Amino acid sequence: LLARVAPLWEEKKGIYGAVGVLQDITEFKKTEQLRRDLIADVSHELRTPLTSIQGFCEALLDGVEEDRVAQEECLKMIHRESLRLNQLINELLDLARLEAGKVNWELNPIEVPDLFAGVLFKLKPQLAEKQIRVEQEITPGVPVVPGNAGRIEQVLSNLLENAIRFSPPGGVIKMQATYNENEVSISVSDQGPGIPGEELPFIWERFYRVEKSRSRALGGTGLGLAIVKQIVENHGGKVAVISRQGTGSTFSFTLPLAPS
Ligand code: ADP
Repeated sequence: LLARVAPLWEEKKGIYGAVGVLQDITEFKKTEQLRRDLIADVSHELRTPLTSIQGFCEALLDGVEEDRVAQEECLKMIHRESLRLNQLINELLDLARLEAGKVNWELNPIEVPDLFAGVLFKLKPQLAEKQIRVEQEITPGVPVVPGNAGRIEQVLSNLLENAIRFSPPGGVIKMQATYNENEVSISVSDQGPGIPGEELPFIWERFYRVEKSRSRALGGTGLGLAIVKQIVENHGGKVAVISRQGTGSTFSFTLPLAPS
C-alpha cells in the first residue's frame, strides 16, 4: 500500500486536520517486477553468445590459433553464435508483438493431414539425421479447422523440433490429431528424458529451461514454447503438456472449430 497524507491548513486555524489516501499498488509493483525480470533475462541471454563471439575474435586477433584449421574453427563458432543471436532477437521481437496482441491474422482452412505433411517435409533432414521414425495417427473425419496456416505450422514445427531434439537416436515420435464437436486437438509425443513434474507449470515461460546448460547446449533459445502458447491462445485454443521423467513427453494444443 502506498500512503499519501496532506495536512489541512487555514491561516486562522493553523493545521486542523489531515487527508490521507491509501493506494493499492500491488499490481503496479508486479508489472514493474516483471519488466525488470524481462530486462535481466534478455540481457543475460544476449550476453552469452556475445561473450563467446568476443572470445573467439580475441583469440584470432591475438594470434593464439596459428594453424589454418584452428582459425577456421574459430570463425565457424563466431558464425554459429551470431546466427544464434539473430534468432534470439527475431524470436524476442515476435513474442513482444504476439504479447501486445498486435496480430491481425488471416484465417485459412487448415487440413490436418496437409499440416502434418508440410511440417514433416520441412524437418525431414533433422529426422533422418537422428534416424527418428514418426507415427501419425489422425482420427478419420477430422474437420477442417480455421487458423492462420503459417502460424499453426510454426506451432507444430516448434513442438516437433523439440521432440526431435530431446529424442534418443532411433526413437519414435507420435503425432496425433483428434476432435470433438468444439475443437481439434493435436499432439506430439516423444520418448525423450521427460520433464520433472514440479517444472511442468513453468515450461511455457520465456527462457525457462529444464537443466539450463544441457538445454542451451542442444541449441534452443528458451522462447519456443512461450511463442507456441501465445499463438495458440491468440487462436482461442489451449496448450497442455503431460510428461513423466524417463518415459517421454506429450505436448498438445487445441484449435476451436468456431474461433470467437
Ligand atoms: P528451447 O528453445 O530451449 O527448446 P522451449 O521454450 O522450446 O525452449 O522449451 C523450454 C524448455 O522445455 C527446454 O529448454 C527444455 O528444457 C524443455 N522441453 C521442451 N520440449 C521438451 C521435450 N520434448 N522433452 C523434454 N524437455 C523439453
